[in-house]
Amino acid sequence: VRARVMEVEESPGVNYDDIGGLAEQMNEVRETVELPLESPEMFDDVGIQPPSGVLLHGPPGTGKTMLAKAVANQTDATFIKMAGSELVHKFIGEGAKLVRDLFEVAREHEPAVIFIDEIDAIASKRTDSKTSGDAEVQRTMMQLLSEMDGFEERGEIRIIAATNRFDMLDRAILRPGRFDRLIEVPKPDAEGREKIFAIHTQDMNLADDVDFGDLAANATDASGADIKAVCTEAGMFAIRDDRTEVRMADFDEAWTKIEAEDEESDEVTK
Ligand code: ATP
Repeated sequence: VRARVMEVEESPGVNYDDIGGLAEQMNEVRETVELPLESPEMFDDVGIQPPSGVLLHGPPGTGKTMLAKAVANQTDATFIKMAGSELVHKFIGEGAKLVRDLFEVAREHEPAVIFIDEIDAIASKRTDSKTSGDAEVQRTMMQLLSEMDGFEERGEIRIIAATNRFDMLDRAILRPGRFDRLIEVPKPDAEGREKIFAIHTQDMNLADDVDFGDLAANATDASGADIKAVCTEAGMFAIRDDRTEVRMADFDEAWTKIEAEDEESDEVTK
C-alpha cells in the first residue's frame, strides 16, 4: 500500500536555480527547513526549537512542490511526498495508518523532508455533518498532529505541507508546535515571469526575436506551471511548422491556445 501512495526520492533533481522569482520564499524555506537540518546545534546553542512544520500556501502551479524538493536536494535529504487527498480517499479507513507509515519511512531515511500536498484534504474546517467519512478524515489529521508532537529530535525530519485552499483550513493545525510557519507562494510578478520564461527555455533553440520581457508582459496572471506549458506548446508549433527554431509568434500562438484551454477547464469545474 505504502509504495503506491508515497513518492520517495533520494535526491530530487531540483535546484534553487530552477525556481524563478520567490526569492523571499526561498530564504524563508532555507531558514526554517534547511538550517535546522544542516546545523541543528545552532538551535540547541541558542536554546530555541526550530519551527515544527512549514505551510506553503498559494495558487496551483506556483512552485510549492519545487521549493520542497529543492530544499531536500540541497540538504541531501530524502524527499517523501504524499497527497492529503490520497491519504483519505485512496484506501478508505487506512488514513491514520498511512500517516504512521509515512513517519516510519522518514525515520528509516533520515535526514528526510516530508511533503504533504493538499493538506486541506485532511485539515479542512469541520463541517457539521457527522458522517463516517468526516470521522476518518479527522482521525487521519489527529494522527499527523500526534506524530508531529511526538518528535523528540526533530532536526533530522522536517515537514512541509502545501495547500491552495488556505481559507478552508482548520486553524487548529496552525497552532504553535504544528504548522507554525506560514509562507505564501503567490503567482509570479512580471519580473518573476521573465525569469521563469528564461528557465524553461534554457534548452530551447530560440530565434532572435524572442523577448522574455515581452513574453512576461503578455502572460499576466500566468503561474509558473502555465509558463512551462506555454514554452512546450511553442516548441510544438515550431515542430508542426517543420522548424527547429522557436519564434516569438510560436509563443504568441501557444499562449492563445493555453488561455483558451484554461477557460474551457474553468467552465468544466464551475
Ligand atoms: P500544486 O498546488 O498544483 O501542487 P505547486 O505550487 O506545487 O502546484 P509545482 O508542482 O512546484 O507547483 O510546479 C509545477 C511545475 O510548474 C514545475 O514542475 C515547474 O516546471 C513549473 N513551475 C512552477 N512554478 C515555477 C517557478 N516559480 N519557477 C520555475 N518553474 C515553475
